[in-house]
Amino acid sequence: MYKIPEVILTINCGSSTIKYQLFTTDVREVVAKGMVSRIGEPGSTVEQEARGRQFRQERPVPSHHQAFEAAVEFLLHPEHGAIRALEEIEAVGHRAVHGGDLFFESTLITDEVVEKLEELVPLAPLHNPPNLVGIREARALLPGVPHVAAFDTSFHQTMPPKAYVYPLPYDYYLKHRVRRYGFHGTSCRYVSRRAAEMLGRPASELKTVVCHLGNGVTMAAVREGRSVDTSIGFATFSGVMMGTRSGDIDPGLIFYLYRRLGMSPEAIENVLYKESGLLGVSGVSNDMRVIEERARAGDERCRLAMEMFAYMVKKYVGAYAAAMGGIDALVFTAGIGENSPESRGLVCAGLGFLGIELDPAANDLARGREAIIGRPGGRTAVLVVPTNEEKMIALDTMRLAGLGKNAG
Ligand code: ADP
Repeated sequence: MYKIPEVILTINCGSSTIKYQLFTTDVREVVAKGMVSRIGEPGSTVEQEARGRQFRQERPVPSHHQAFEAAVEFLLHPEHGAIRALEEIEAVGHRAVHGGDLFFESTLITDEVVEKLEELVPLAPLHNPPNLVGIREARALLPGVPHVAAFDTSFHQTMPPKAYVYPLPYDYYLKHRVRRYGFHGTSCRYVSRRAAEMLGRPASELKTVVCHLGNGVTMAAVREGRSVDTSIGFATFSGVMMGTRSGDIDPGLIFYLYRRLGMSPEAIENVLYKESGLLGVSGVSNDMRVIEERARAGDERCRLAMEMFAYMVKKYVGAYAAAMGGIDALVFTAGIGENSPESRGLVCAGLGFLGIELDPAANDLARGREAIIGRPGGRTAVLVVPTNEEKMIALDTMRLAGLGKNAG
């Protein structure tokens, strides 16, 4: 007889894409994984991998509503799908970008939670509106099951005021919510927990620095399992230089560009967000793979971009070790952190004084998989932990929905 599998759905709804995954309720297995791309644009596609079968279609997807319909059609597809009825979905976990100072952890979604998310739109005008659309569509589609929101910001809500208040007039914080929030929190939470498991030590004993090095970059200081400082601040902008974002700059530069070069605020924003970082310095690409290849072939600007990137990461490692009064574990994650031995090597070079020493062979072998890459017996553990935000969201969803007692 056909046994109804219980699954949990995770949804990451952006302005032009929806990514979704179906997990078993113990969150040990991904049953299906799919994406609707270019919503409301020409050339929309729907693609899915379910139970080992790939399925892809190009078709018009003018709105998020239609994107959800397409995803449901794919999930229920008699030949390529993963489930037979929507009733098999026990709970839904939503990635939510900005929880402001209102959400300290993942939460069950109620009408009141939706109202609060609306209130936070000014803090994340690009991200929260599509998240809200996703929540509305999914709640209409699956009204009888618990929905959970997991916020990118909430893990960093444990920062002390000395880390999150900006040295501006205090009223800007009180009246306008201007403060450091931090992002990539779900990733930082997942990899710092996983690193503790890999080391066989309780997270409550560890001082960990997380290097989330992807197109976006977050450095985080995690003490006793809680974030105590992080490099991204109010917007998704500060900290280490990123693929196309400058990261930390002197704010005086903005006035120089405005007054002396006559650039408009929009043009300055565009330069700092979209034309800077690895792309701006290398003049070639925002992709570290391309930059490494060109640097090996002798391109000096690509070499400089790589060195600047690693140098900025290294400075944060030192700063956060100082902030925590030590460091037990250094964790690399996201596209560059997981896949670039060269970048990891540049970051760790010269950090022996913090007990950070790489095992070169282990570092070289660690590409896209979990590994301990520090020298055996080294004082500080160095690890590669591929991030898995969806799994973290699914685990939270299971917990808050009261399902999957053996989730792991
Ligand atoms: P996002 O922040 O968009 O989620 P990712 O975590 O997927 O980004 O990281 C994307 C970046 O990872 C790419 O821009 C690329 O620079 C880098 N990357 C991926 N694979 C490699 C690799 N093998 N070597 C070096 N860099 C890599």
